Amino acid sequence: MKILVAVKRVIDHNVKVRVKADGSGVELANVKMAMNPFDEIAVEEAVRLKEAGKAAEVIAVSIGDISYQETLRSAMAIGADRAILIQRPTELVLESLDIARLLQQVVANEQPDLILLGKQAIDDDCNQTGQMLSALLDYGQATFASQIVVEGNSLQVTREIDGGLETLAMELPAVVTTDLRLNEPRYATLPNIMKAKKKPLDIIDISNMNFSPLGQTKTIKVSEPKKRAGQCTLLNDAAALVSALQAKEVI
Ligand code: AMP
Repeated sequence: MKILVAVKRVIDHNVKVRVKADGSGVELANVKMAMNPFDEIAVEEAVRLKEAGKAAEVIAVSIGDISYQETLRSAMAIGADRAILIQRPTELVLESLDIARLLQQVVANEQPDLILLGKQAIDDDCNQTGQMLSALLDYGQATFASQIVVEGNSLQVTREIDGGLETLAMELPAVVTTDLRLNEPRYATLPNIMKAKKKPLDIIDISNMNFSPLGQTKTIKVSEPKKRAGQCTLLNDAAALVSALQAKEVI
């Protein structure tokens, strides 16, 4: 079985995101970037399937500018065998359907049996690329996976749904998006980071793909959330809280 894992580079989740002064987006200059956490879980799952003898090859794929190479090297340090970067100019903004259309072409070339994506990218919070890709490919899909079991040519995926779990069965090839509790990604060891530097990373310029951006969505404005109104008041005891609530001094 061949597994393709889609990996996005986002602002590191520990960094406080700042909006650009002109409201055109968020500040990316000199900001620490990292692999989207759900994609790290997807890479980890693919590598575990390989280690369990269920998969023969794990390929990480990104659509991004040249800086994405670093993120793909991290995926290979976790254990992906090789990587593909569809390189776009830094200023070219792509929407989810563009990404899904490009991934569709990678799938056509690579013919993976399983395609893993994160359930969402923590920068745009779109939660739609996996769903769009499965529609374009006409493959079965399972979103928000918390467990993946491969049995021969089929898959059982447990999904986290409101107030419970749902288990689906589907034939391969299929698209699965990962949720937080699927696994805990390993830390890449130094020897594996070194090994990853030597693994193959194919860079394909976006101009060599059969692709033009849809340009259906435009960002009008990005702004900081409103500052919280009101200040904290420290009350001495529960009785003071009850009186304050009765007087509607606190809400
Ligand atoms: P989104 O629909 O934007 O929330 O992203 C969902 C998932 O799609 C991510 O977790 C990634 O697995 C994949 N994805 C989104 N953008 C990219 C990209 N530029 N390159 C590779 N994969 C991506």
